[in-house]
Amino acid sequence: MSDRRPERLQALHRKLAADGLDGLLVTSLPNIRYLTGFSGTSAVLLVTGGDAVFVSDFRYRTQAALEIGDLARIEIDSGSLWQRLFKVLPELSGATTLGFEAHVLTAQDAGRLVDAARPWRFGPTVDIVEGLRTVKAPEEVEAIRDAGEVATAALGQLVVSLRAGQTEQEAAAVLESALRRHGTEGYPFPTIVASGPRAALPHARTSRRVIAPGDFLLVDFGAVVNGYCSDITRTFVVGAPASARQVEVYELVRAAQRAALAGLRAGLTGRQGDALARDLIEAAGWGDAFGHSLGHGVGLEVHEAPRLAKTVESPLPAAAVVTVEPGVYLPEWGGVRIEDDVALRHDGVELLTEFPRDLTVLG
Ligand code: ZN
Ligand code: ZN
Repeated sequence: MSDRRPERLQALHRKLAADGLDGLLVTSLPNIRYLTGFSGTSAVLLVTGGDAVFVSDFRYRTQAALEIGDLARIEIDSGSLWQRLFKVLPELSGATTLGFEAHVLTAQDAGRLVDAARPWRFGPTVDIVEGLRTVKAPEEVEAIRDAGEVATAALGQLVVSLRAGQTEQEAAAVLESALRRHGTEGYPFPTIVASGPRAALPHARTSRRVIAPGDFLLVDFGAVVNGYCSDITRTFVVGAPASARQVEVYELVRAAQRAALAGLRAGLTGRQGDALARDLIEAAGWGDAFGHSLGHGVGLEVHEAPRLAKTVESPLPAAAVVTVEPGVYLPEWGGVRIEDDVALRHDGVELLTEFPRDLTVLG
């Protein structure tokens, strides 16, 4: 795998220069991982025109050296990250106008920075590194595809073992154990297993509810490979043939997803992408039951830029990876969502998650 980090730092330097900044204090851990390869949970990174200084604590001395190498100057001691940072700051010649990540830093830490760092002037920035992360290199897309394969392999094990009479938590345990055995590094978000009327809650918490014959079962989960997430949803019927209404709602969501997968491509705005599925659901009279946006970016974080949403007028970049996840939710009755991950190309999409989408009865 080629080392993308030097070109990422160069792209960041260019962006900072264009924004009139001498440097950026990076405190988002996914951003630090993207720029340096460091995968630990405590660090700050100061990037200036001539320097990249990585500050962490004693626990990460060995790991930081291994993962970062000579890409950045590594500063580690037993004091706090901030104390160490304030010691390093005076050594940075020429860097006077610096940015911090206003969407990440707490107001308390931002205040500390603004007060203590004089004569350096720190000002707020938003989504600078996140913007770079939107466009994925081929190996990032492959990592997401690998994470998708781990997820679908685990889902394959759930569907053969699932029966009415099990609880949602038991189903989640089967799925999460299978994810581990297939190689996930962790869970990108709490696994959602929602049955019956609880499938109408788009972000349901997996509960002790016993899955009953004839229930919808909505499963939304993902895997992590090399730090990159997948995010997939399937909705099944359990233990009894689907009712006419279940078929109607399911087939509508299925058709909406099919239309979005067929029409989506780089260059559309987020709003146009969202409309590919939403128009169909609205035309069928269920527009009010599709209360979330069609999709979101996936990468080092499970929710990142860009978004496929009514409010987004900017064009979707090529090589972004997004979810396509239409849903219809009817309170007290149930809901259906079908979610896949795709890489955007100029002429369409490259599907990164493959699992049957036809309405399936389990058990
Ligand atoms: Zn999801
Ligand atoms: Zn999602």
